[in-house]
This record gives sequence, C-alpha cells and structure tokens, in this order.
Amino acid sequence: FLNLTLVILGADFDDKLGELKQYGMDEIIYVKSPLLKDYYSDFYVKSITELVIDNKPEIILIGATPTGRDFAPRVAKKLNAGLTADCTGLDINLVTRNLLQTRPTFGGNIMATIITPSSRPQMATVRPGIFKRIHREKPNVQIRKIHFEFTEKDSVSKIVKVINKERTHVNLEEAEIIIAGGRGVGSKEGFKIIEALAETLGAELAGSRITVELDWLDADRQVGQTGKTVSPKLYIACGISGAIQHVVGMQNAEIIVAINKDPNASIFNIAHYGIIGDLHEVIPVLIEELNKIKTES
Ligand SMILES: Cc1cc2nc3c(=O)[nH]c(=O)nc-3n(C[C@H](O)[C@H](O)[C@H](O)COP(=O)(O)OP(=O)(O)OC[C@H]3O[C@@H](n4cnc5c(N)ncnc54)[C@H](O)[C@@H]3O)c2cc1C
Repeated sequence: FLNLTLVILGADFDDKLGELKQYGMDEIIYVKSPLLKDYYSDFYVKSITELVIDNKPEIILIGATPTGRDFAPRVAKKLNAGLTADCTGLDINLVTRNLLQTRPTFGGNIMATIITPSSRPQMATVRPGIFKRIHREKPNVQIRKIHFEFTEKDSVSKIVKVINKERTHVNLEEAEIIIAGGRGVGSKEGFKIIEALAETLGAELAGSRITVELDWLDADRQVGQTGKTVSPKLYIACGISGAIQHVVGMQNAEIIVAINKDPNASIFNIAHYGIIGDLHEVIPVLIEELNKIKTES
C-alpha cells in the first residue's frame, strides 16, 4: 500500500547499499557523480527535483540535518510544495493518504499537527534520532543507479577548501545511555558529579539549554527543541524541571529516570522512575551502588 524509496546522493556509496537495504525500503535510488562528493545545494536541488517530477511521490521526507535543512526548502520552492520543517512526529491517515506532520510551535508551548490535504507532494524535514532504526529487509529491494549530467558550471557556488572543525566526538543521537544535567546541578563545578555518573555507566553527557547558556556544557550536548533529539535506552534527567522544550527532545527514551528535589516538577509526569531528593546527595549513592554491582558481577 505504501512504497518506500530511499534516495542517496554521493560519489562513493556503492559499498553502503547492501547495509541500507536492511531498513525496510522497496527501492534505493542512488544518484552518483564525482561532483556529489561534497555538498553543493544546486546539485542536490536539481537531482531531487528531477527525481520527484519523474517519480511523483506522495510524500518526501528529508533529515533535518544541516544539509537537509539547506536543500529541502529550495526543493519545495521548485516544486511549489509546502514544507513542514523540523518534525518530531509523523503519522499517515491511510484513508486520505495525508501525512500528519507534528512539530513544536509557539516557542514549543504547543505541538501542532500539520496536514497539506490539497497539494502533493507532502514534504517534511524530520529531526534525526526521532525514530528508531528497525531492521526489516524486504525481499527484492530494487537498486537504481542514476547519473545526472551536471558540471561545475551548474552550481553558483564553488567549494574552495574544506576545513574540518576540531571537536570532541559527541554522538548523542546514537547513545544508548544519556545522563543529562539541568540548572539544578548548580554550577559548572557541580557537573563533575554528573560526569562521574556518566562515566560509571559508560554514558554520554547532555543537558538542558540553560546549562549551555550558563557555559556549564558545550552546545552540541543540548537536548531539546533547539538542541538534539535523542532516543536512548536510558535517560537520567538530573535537576531538570521538564519544560516542554526539553521534553520534546528526550520523550522517546525507553526508560526515563528523573532526580529532582521538587516533587511537583513536571519531569516526573513523563519519568518511568522518579527520585525525589538533592542530586548532590542521590548521585554519589547511586555511583557507589553501581560500582558495587560492577565488582560483584
Ligand atoms: C523557543 C525556545 C526553545 C527552547 N529550547 C530548549 C531546548 O532545546 N532545550 C532545553 O532544555 N530548553 C529549551 N528551552 C528552555 C526551556 O523552556 C526551559 O527554560 C529549560 O529547559 C529549563 O531548564 P532546566 O530544567 O535545566 O532548568 P529549570 O527549569 O530552572 O529547572 C531546574 C530544576 O532543578 C531542580 N533542582 C534544583 N536544585 C536541585 C538539586 N540540588 N537536586 C535536584 N533537583 C534540583 C528544580 O526543582 C527544578 O525542577 C527553550 C525555550 C524556548 C522559549
């Protein structure tokens, strides 16, 4: 009833196709060109627009990555289609075949579900990490390789040099365990106890926006509407109140544990386990107990 096609663009993805086939699509379209080695918006826009005109999909989903956020609106403009940017939830009405595109709005205070019933294709960018990867290989996945004839002259921009930013590797979207701190941690110094818990559990460190604004934590570790969206197996929120703008980024975690000294904090509404108490007293005990379990096993 619904056919799923994956489109990838690049210069050298041949050895990735086998792995990509495992994720439930019916077809893979691989647009291959040496000019697609680096990201040029003009080549992406031209390729995707032509593919859409030829194949007439009902729905186009694009990752809300820096690259996706750049080319998706340009493609939408070319196709005269709408675009719902930065969705955090998707569904399909199988009767009307409308895509139900949910995203935070009005500063994240409400979640809006947007439909575009009178135009096709329906286009949305979707936050990475929102959906879990599911292995479901369909039989006979078709692979189509397409070569577009473009030259450097087809692009108004030219990449002169690529300078990679030096950074420590933070991959919150893939992390299985995340320990996040909020304003309740109290200070940059106070984050040491959060780091110690993260180390004990082999977890990634994260935080609320306020901790980034206060310079207690690097910006690439912020979870929430204007940060990363994560779906780990375990998310421990320490001194985080549970504002909707934070919650939209972590509510898909399998197990949420909240440590907060305010029994009425709204984080307890979504937590599977809650510990009411001062995190500076609770976490050292947690670390001690976890270390005991580690040495026993
Ligand atoms: C447009 C917009 C976008 C936003 N985007 C984001 C975003 O991406 N991510 C994000 O996180 N926020 C975002 N925010 C901010 C958000 O609204 C909240 O202000 C923020 O999430 C609150 O952070 P917090 O929970 O750390 O702090 P607070 O709300 O101040 O909560 C601190 C909590 O710590 C508890 N506490 C205090 N001391 C202790 C202690 N010793 N032990 C245990 N608990 C303690 C308190 O009871 C309280 O519940 C955004 C806001 C807007 C308007």
